[in-house]
Amino acid sequence: MKESVTSSQGEVINMPPEEFKAAGMQLLEKIGSFLSDLPHKPVTTAEQPSAIRAHLVHKELPKEGMAAADLLVQASDLLFDHSLFNGHPRFWGYITSSAAPIGALAELLTAAVNANVGAFVLSPMATEIEKQTIEWIGEFVGYSPQSKGVFVSGGNMANFIGFLAARRATMQGIRESGIPRIAEREMSQDNSQPISEQSETPKHLVYCAQGTHTWIQKATDLFGFGTDSIRWIKIHDSGQIDCQDLQNTIASDVQKGHHPFLIVGNAGSVSTGAIDDFEKLSAIAKTFHTWFHIDGAYGAPAAGLEENKEQFKGIELADSLALDPHKWIYAPLEAGCLLVKDARLLTDTFNFHPEYYNFDGREDDSPVNMVDYSMQNSRGFKALKVWLILQQLGSNGLKDLIRKDIFLAAELNDKLKQLANFRVFTKHLSIVTFQYVPENNNGDTAYINTLNQHLVNKLQEGGKVFLSNAVIHGNYCLRVCFVNFRTQVGDLDFLIDLVKVEGEALHKRLQV
Ligand SMILES: *Cc1c(COP(=O)(O)O)cnc(C)c1O
Repeated sequence: MKESVTSSQGEVINMPPEEFKAAGMQLLEKIGSFLSDLPHKPVTTAEQPSAIRAHLVHKELPKEGMAAADLLVQASDLLFDHSLFNGHPRFWGYITSSAAPIGALAELLTAAVNANVGAFVLSPMATEIEKQTIEWIGEFVGYSPQSKGVFVSGGNMANFIGFLAARRATMQGIRESGIPRIAEREMSQDNSQPISEQSETPKHLVYCAQGTHTWIQKATDLFGFGTDSIRWIKIHDSGQIDCQDLQNTIASDVQKGHHPFLIVGNAGSVSTGAIDDFEKLSAIAKTFHTWFHIDGAYGAPAAGLEENKEQFKGIELADSLALDPHKWIYAPLEAGCLLVKDARLLTDTFNFHPEYYNFDGREDDSPVNMVDYSMQNSRGFKALKVWLILQQLGSNGLKDLIRKDIFLAAELNDKLKQLANFRVFTKHLSIVTFQYVPENNNGDTAYINTLNQHLVNKLQEGGKVFLSNAVIHGNYCLRVCFVNFRTQVGDLDFLIDLVKVEGEALHKRLQV
């Protein structure tokens, strides 16, 4: 029987070299044209899910295979004709950058070699490149030239790694016994209050500014604390965490017998780009023996600019730092990373040594095995595209691009402030939040909020620009974030004119 199982599919999946090269060249041609056509395409076609589904050629998995070259043409047409393009010069939504084209080529190379960067022995060169990339990023942002760390899929995962390292470092026996119960006798430092009057059961607590990215909710939920363990600290009008409120809240929590274990600072908050006072946060963390983590998913690369050093001072004091190369290092999705200064903080959190892994190497030149640095096991090689972008630009080139994004935000801010029908709420780093405010609005906040909410939708559906929203002190704002090397100053005037026209039209419609 066995001999009769024959298949030519091995040859099909293997692709003969000539076929591979021809299909690849054809794809590269198409991608090249796509990239040069990008500015002339709509940012998005804004089609509904059912319309998108209708474009899919096969409703069921075909029984017989098709030629690779034909499939690649079909897939590229589907994607080029029905996608939202964050690489478009007028895409400024959320925090998603235009992607460096060298990153696309890097992904091809990565997939071709298919290194498993879980262990050095499985990925010798890739492991060393990843380590070097981490060091370069750490040095660029002024964290530490000896940074250790790990690439992950993005900011959420990077922050999770920092959270888990904090949990490990501040709670004895956690790996074996789980989250420790806080003993009752520790509950009250002064015994003036009888236990019965202490209403809350003691908890392990996390502190961060209001408006900290939602990863903190996922982390407290997923890693066993629950979202009630988050203390949302007040922010100043500048968007910065109120360190006095933080200090008071922690002191009061300690009094009540709680265990503060983590303070999170923002290096560029998600909505407005606010940067916390890291020196103060670090001092408070030291006083109360907590871990100090910085979420720099968006903003940390801006710390590399000389003119920003003052704003970011103290970034080097963090026990861990999360940063997204797929944001302000212009890498294609996905690429996030978590940095620490001592690799032990990660290996103590994540390493196990099962007998079926033979990864230890030689004692005199011991390898780094990335499986010990995060929750992942098999790992792709996300660092390559970042390593290549960093070298293609050099540190000066990267600074120039970040500087230009910040300049665009400042320009937009200046232009809007001179116009009657606009109100700017915030401008930090490369993020501007503002409203369109029509004349004869009767000072009605609720109406202006509704108008701007409609405006965001209208602009997003229109496909000429893409921006997102923010709510600042109850005001529904349009939000523009520049992490886009294709945007030019002229695009700002285009945006302003469009918002005026659409805003006015909506105002007329909503009035009747
Ligand atoms: C984008 C962002 C995140 C989440 O990052 P992902 O890469 O989307 O997972 C977390 N924090 C901040 C400040 C961000 O800007």
